[in-house]
Amino acid sequence: MENPPPTIGLLISGGLDSSILLGHLLQQGRTVQPFYVQSGLVWQREELWALKALLIALNDDRLRPLVELEMPLADLYGMHWSITGRDVPDARTADEAVYLPGRNLLLAVKPAIWCRMHGIEELALAVLGSSPFGDATDEFFRQFESLLRTATDGGPRLVRPFGTMSKREVMQLGRSLPLELTFSCINPQRGLHCGVCNKCRERRQAFGLAGMADPTRYAEG
Ligand SMILES: [Zn+2]
Repeated sequence: MENPPPTIGLLISGGLDSSILLGHLLQQGRTVQPFYVQSGLVWQREELWALKALLIALNDDRLRPLVELEMPLADLYGMHWSITGRDVPDARTADEAVYLPGRNLLLAVKPAIWCRMHGIEELALAVLGSSPFGDATDEFFRQFESLLRTATDGGPRLVRPFGTMSKREVMQLGRSLPLELTFSCINPQRGLHCGVCNKCRERRQAFGLAGMADPTRYAEG
């Protein structure tokens, strides 16, 4: 009998892309070690609640218990909207408005080192080819992987299975998943997606692009 494929780490936020990547890896027969990084941003409580509900709903033996790692960003981001919840970019803003400085670097570093410490040789990130941000480029990931190798005398490969896919293709991969249990709002209202922020607009568009009914309960709109 062939050996099962080795365990893969996954940085997961509970949003559409990383949740669909989780489903995709499980469908491929991978054992998955998910990581959630608590950075104390205003949507963390709702995001983490949804993520835990999703993991329970998936009910898969190859899904390892969630590892939560802390990377508090309030001291670094200060009065930024992601900490205060004020002047959150709304649906009229460009995607650049939701850029969080150094986010992929900050979020990936602890999970990568955790993988190194526990013999996991791959860490997956749900970065799409279409992301406009510098810390989502091939160059960034190549250099970061190299830095990890130097710093930890090894370190996982950073893999981006969605790196060449469009949002529409990713959504279609997630068709059979309980996407109502994903969360991607940066200004939650009464525990629900607000319906009017930049990320809610992106969420509605994603379902629309894929020709799928949007199962999300929005507070507005
Ligand atoms: Zn929202």
